[in-house]
Amino acid sequence: MGGLRALVSPARRGLLSRRACCGEFVGDFGTVGNIDTDGGSSGADDGGNGNGDGNASGNDADGDEDGYDRAIAAYASSEIDDPMSWATSPMAEAARRGPQQLARNTPHSFNWDELHGSDPDSASYLVHRPRFKRSRLPAAVSHVADVGYVHPPRGSTEHNNATWRCPECDRSEVNWIAGETICLDCSVRMEEK
Ligand SMILES: [Zn+2]
Repeated sequence: MGGLRALVSPARRGLLSRRACCGEFVGDFGTVGNIDTDGGSSGADDGGNGNGDGNASGNDADGDEDGYDRAIAAYASSEIDDPMSWATSPMAEAARRGPQQLARNTPHSFNWDELHGSDPDSASYLVHRPRFKRSRLPAAVSHVADVGYVHPPRGSTEHNNATWRCPECDRSEVNWIAGETICLDCSVRMEEK
């Protein structure tokens, strides 16, 4: 593979990385909307009844590629020099924060290390992102749809705050966000002790 490296120019690497990230977005939005994103016209919705039981990504059997497949392929061929730098770029961060926010405080929440591969010097670091999203995001979306609630983002936080307690969990894990003082875990408004 090393011999191929010279064939992928820096500009091409950047293009492939952005293309891969767009594939992530397509996969994410497709998952959220339970849309088939393999590029075909998925208009023939045979009834739409039933219990949308996690079929957002099960479309590989016929060889069709969805957004995540395209992201995996593009990242794998990008030969990007510095996967960590790309992972912290605004575009890649946008593709991380949405899904991570959606899954926050659910049984399907995940952190940076889970989303990325184990070797930040390898393209596999980025290839892991769409793979992980495919495995994790459908369950997170289902959970949020069931409870009808997305937790607010994490703002300024303090553990064991002396002033505030949570009426739900009785702890003092504070999250200050958007002018509110809420529980870091339950996201309900805190009460003064
Ligand atoms: Zn609480």
